[in-house]
Amino acid sequence: MGIASKNTASFGPSLRIGVLGGGQLGRMTIQSAIDFDARVEVMDPSADAPCSNFTHRFVQGDLNDAEAVVAFGRNLDCITIEIEHVSVEGLRTLEQQGVRVIPKPDHLATIQDKGLQKQFFEANGIPTAPYQLIDNVSDVGAMGFPIVQKMRKGGYDGKGVVVLKDEASIDKAFTVPSVLEAAVDIDKELSVIVARNSAGETKCFPVVESVFDPVANLVDYLIAPAAITAAQAAEAERVAQQVVEAMDFEGLLAVELFLDTSGSILVNEVAPRTHNSGHHTIEANVTSQFEQHLRTVLDLPLGSTAPVHAVGAMVNIVGTADAQGTPDYKGIDVALATEGVHPHLYGKSQVKPFRKMGHVTITGGSREEVLERMMRIREQLAVEGKQAPSA
Ligand code: ADP
Repeated sequence: MGIASKNTASFGPSLRIGVLGGGQLGRMTIQSAIDFDARVEVMDPSADAPCSNFTHRFVQGDLNDAEAVVAFGRNLDCITIEIEHVSVEGLRTLEQQGVRVIPKPDHLATIQDKGLQKQFFEANGIPTAPYQLIDNVSDVGAMGFPIVQKMRKGGYDGKGVVVLKDEASIDKAFTVPSVLEAAVDIDKELSVIVARNSAGETKCFPVVESVFDPVANLVDYLIAPAAITAAQAAEAERVAQQVVEAMDFEGLLAVELFLDTSGSILVNEVAPRTHNSGHHTIEANVTSQFEQHLRTVLDLPLGSTAPVHAVGAMVNIVGTADAQGTPDYKGIDVALATEGVHPHLYGKSQVKPFRKMGHVTITGGSREEVLERMMRIREQLAVEGKQAPSA
């Protein structure tokens, strides 16, 4: 069962896991790792990353610098990621040196490039929106309009994605190699987080639905199970399984999906790591996404993804539109006083407009109950900035 540790010191943890990236995802991974007697060591470019105070070894460094990644990961039992923009070359070297790397460097290389992702979906019969790859902005009209243009590399949280409605919007187009994608008539945005271990065992968490705020154009909240038919949920899980099996993937994969207005499920993109759409699993499911991810990193049997509450939801706690300075959290007392609500703050030293500073999980016996609890707290939750008093 699982990997044997090389670390035979009589004191100290039995396993050393490196994580590239020291943000909130790494921080919640550390919480889970304690129960596996695993020591998480972290590398991040920022000296005050959310993990920096909670790890035995924190290395400040550039995650895209192959040599720095190798220097960090040498002699670890295994290494994983909380962000996909890291040096694949560095991870390949570590794998050759005997470090267990999850996700596999080849999978990461495919996923880092949205163009290669789309080609992979197409080659494996995975349903996805029609697309075309372009290198020059002069080709941006190749599929007609409306389209969604996505930078092949480097985008995240919607940065690197632009909707081009018509010819007149071409001046908003990116000038870097990109994917043109047919604009999908979206009914719902869904996500399935699926884990797969070396034995090919897979487990999906129940389908999550992202509910958008049309005014702010940001995810308002996430709720599971999604309000879709049983057949649509089964299809979403089938497609997520198809992706991990076609890739021979090992690790945790978040599969972002569209349910279009004709009722079809399409893959938008995948992320080979823990994901914002799985935060509610900490309270809402038998095994959290963070524990499940660690189980795949350590190649242990997968945990049950069964819900422990009928419905789980998650609201991000973000900086206000003008927030600057040290964080001043509002509404946490109201959240704590509401049944079924659990705040998770990420310990970021500085707040910025709309920066994700934490989240709350809301669980309950029905969708109505969860939404009612959410409405009570959501308007109160905010993070303002406090300026340090001038000396
Ligand atoms: P990121 O990797 O930055 O999260 P995504 O590819 O997930 O970018 O796109 C961000 C958002 O843009 C999606 O959540 C969706 O709302 C919208 N979007 C992306 N692709 C399409 C598409 N083909 N048709 C319509 N909307 C899309």
